[in-house]
Amino acid sequence: MPKKPSAFEIYKLLPKKNCKECGEATCMVFATKLLALERKIEECPLLEEPMFKKNAEKLADLLEPFSGEVGLSGVNINADLCTGCGNCVHCCPANNKYHPEIGQGQGVLDEEKTTYKIVDGKVKICNLNICKRVEEKTACSVCETFCYSKALQIIG
Ligand code: SF4
Ligand code: SF4
Ligand code: SF4
Repeated sequence: MPKKPSAFEIYKLLPKKNCKECGEATCMVFATKLLALERKIEECPLLEEPMFKKNAEKLADLLEPFSGEVGLSGVNINADLCTGCGNCVHCCPANNKYHPEIGQGQGVLDEEKTTYKIVDGKVKICNLNICKRVEEKTACSVCETFCYSKALQIIG
């Protein structure tokens, strides 16, 4: 996954008019909310004007890799480094919320209510919409901390 852009990189591509048409006080506030995926590019009407078309396209390119559920959580897994140890599965507070028994290494994981599980000796992403970073907007990074092989990293 590419490096997440900074709010300033996003800001530089906005019209920088501080016109408030998007409902935000300044373009910088809009930039930070775009980066947090709380606002959408289309919500700045000035970006639809021909003179800003290229900027709108660049913004879309910059933000696209971070727009899905994996992007929202920031979780990035390098399968080659994964040893299948299962630490990320057992320590994840979202998994433990929905499957309290997995802390003891027991239980069948319902994929809809599971962030990760181990399949054939490798971690598999099931549903990162339940990740605390997505569902509760916390800064959880427990899975990254307990991934000693550095296969799992949180970007952004
Ligand atoms: S509508 Fe666009 S130009 Fe106006 S303040 Fe919002 S981001 Fe800036
Ligand atoms: S960031 Fe926290 S809640 Fe999200 S998958 Fe990792 S351990 Fe689970
Ligand atoms: S903690 Fe890291 S190495 Fe272990 S299963 Fe998860 S991603 Fe793979």
